[in-house]
Amino acid sequence: MKHRAPVLALLAAAAAAQAQPAYELLLKGGHVIDPKNGISARMDVAVAKGRIARVAPSIDARQAARTVDVSGLYVTPGLIDMHVHVYAGTGLKGVYTGDLSVYPDGFSFRSGVTTMVDAGTAGWRNFPDFRQRVIERARTRVLAFLNIVGGGMGITSEDDPADMDAGAAVRMARQHRDLIVGIKVAHYSKEGWPDVDNALKAANELKLPIMVDFGWTNENRNLKILMEEKLRPGDIYTHCYSGHRDELLDGKTNPAMWNGRRRGILFDVGHGGGSFYWNIAVPMTREGFWPDSISTDLHTGSMNAGMKDMTNVMSKILNLGATLEDVIRMSTWAPARQIGRTDLGHLSEGAEADITVLSLQKGKFGFIDAAGARLAGDRMLVAELTIKGGQVMWDRLGWAATDWEKFPYRKRERPR
Ligand SMILES: [Zn+2]
Repeated sequence: MKHRAPVLALLAAAAAAQAQPAYELLLKGGHVIDPKNGISARMDVAVAKGRIARVAPSIDARQAARTVDVSGLYVTPGLIDMHVHVYAGTGLKGVYTGDLSVYPDGFSFRSGVTTMVDAGTAGWRNFPDFRQRVIERARTRVLAFLNIVGGGMGITSEDDPADMDAGAAVRMARQHRDLIVGIKVAHYSKEGWPDVDNALKAANELKLPIMVDFGWTNENRNLKILMEEKLRPGDIYTHCYSGHRDELLDGKTNPAMWNGRRRGILFDVGHGGGSFYWNIAVPMTREGFWPDSISTDLHTGSMNAGMKDMTNVMSKILNLGATLEDVIRMSTWAPARQIGRTDLGHLSEGAEADITVLSLQKGKFGFIDAAGARLAGDRMLVAELTIKGGQVMWDRLGWAATDWEKFPYRKRERPR
């Protein structure tokens, strides 16, 4: 009987190894929509070491340290909002590089967003300040389009061709290649094409897309020339339902828009405070002109008006008649591809565990456009749980939390 004790010790060690859970987190019973991988089905999702470890019809809860019952909810890749303004905290009054911006973490996770792309709030003069002041301090992943205007949206004139320096933009983008995903053009209101031409010059050198907020148009500067002669496949036209540049012409989608789409130009919502109207979006989507990507154009002027937040804009596109699968694709895998970050926007095994859990509520809802007009709807997406890198960042109703009667409260130590 001498060998008995070592055998018991071995058995105990084996049991302990088995008890060590393989996964930190298991989302169980949800409906996974992962457009990149062509999944729209009831699936469990397991997370280990901050990454997606497994997606399968049934994963044993005993293998996970924490299991969250998400039955009745939709499990999607972390949402990517590819048009926001988050260069806050500069103290500048009345401009996007200041008080019109918001801090990313205050608005991202609570609406299901794990990645935000700032749309040119900073240019080649002030990007390093934006980086240290906001991007590096945020828990949200913040990427950026660099404005072709040196001062971005605030410290110099957006109409001054002398500040649209392609060489300086290229140098700055190369210094911050980990964050800069493209070049932004916005708000130009004078003659000619110095904004678009200089942005294209920089983008060609960098092999990056440009995003265009087309500013003001005239006879010599219009949608037809932009779509048919200027933009390249993969370039992004934001504010596609604004109507300000004749996107809708005589009640029909401008043929230039269709020609642009045929050439591979991509169309982004960029709702904002003045760029989304039902009398433009309804006829265009009825004709089948859907956006490639959904984004908010978040800033202080849009968030308290019709735009509100990412899930509200997604709900608008849903109530216009898009399928839920399409709406999720437009908010995850499509923007990830547009910004060249194909490591994001999907739930492939090994990907960083950025996950959003949404409820699809049914009832009587209303959605306001940038003019204040209402469209009645019957479905509303709500962000229930937002996970970034395996960490719960937002939990609306305590889905992942322990009931207080079982919670291991610890007595707080008095500071010495
Ligand atoms: Zn914008």
